[in-house]
Amino acid sequence: MNIYQSELKNVKGDLITLRVNDIQMFQSELKRGYIAYDLTPHTADKLSDIQRRKAYAMIHDIADYEGYPDDVKKITLKEQFRAITGYPKFSLSDCKKDVATAFIAFLVEYCFEYDIPFRFKDLTNTFDTQRQVFLCLVHKRCTVCGTTESVEINHEDTVGNGMNRNHIDHRNHRLEALCHWHHFEFHTVGAESFAKKYHFHGVKLKDEEIVSLGLMSWKQIREFDEEYRRENK
Ligand SMILES: [Zn+2]
Repeated sequence: MNIYQSELKNVKGDLITLRVNDIQMFQSELKRGYIAYDLTPHTADKLSDIQRRKAYAMIHDIADYEGYPDDVKKITLKEQFRAITGYPKFSLSDCKKDVATAFIAFLVEYCFEYDIPFRFKDLTNTFDTQRQVFLCLVHKRCTVCGTTESVEINHEDTVGNGMNRNHIDHRNHRLEALCHWHHFEFHTVGAESFAKKYHFHGVKLKDEEIVSLGLMSWKQIREFDEEYRRENK
């Protein structure tokens, strides 16, 4: 099935006129009886320079790691992206902003999935920050620099003095993965300055995510729940 790109030309009552990008294909489908279409809205915005640079930088990092020329990898990555999302053919020279946003998200998820090292430069400008914090926790990468070397999990909200560090319900804390150096920086400058500098906050995780990261066992989670029940009585 084809997906068309079109440009809105006119609206009159409930009749709209669209200019379609591939009229030959469109007509051949009309002849085969395809006369109903779904429309997906896009704004007129084109991708930004930062998005274009980020997409090319990520394609380069992936190609480099997997041992392909950039051009070859670009084609297969775009095909994979289109197969998953259903987006029509697009060009990184002039595609719509939302397509570029989705394509960059696909590239970022791909790198996390396949453990591909990539530069985190501009990531906060081009990718969902909360998702970045989450992916870094799950894949144990530093949220600031992306390294996988000596990554530690930080509680953004201070674990109070005098509180038993071994008796922490991690579900109540905003967590973030930081390498040893950025973790050190966090404690040196403090949570507030750190968040201001790097523009992200920790995220709370679901029970099963906490367990699969090895932060708590199901037994510990049940014990905390039991404790809360007793306190609320
Ligand atoms: Zn780091």
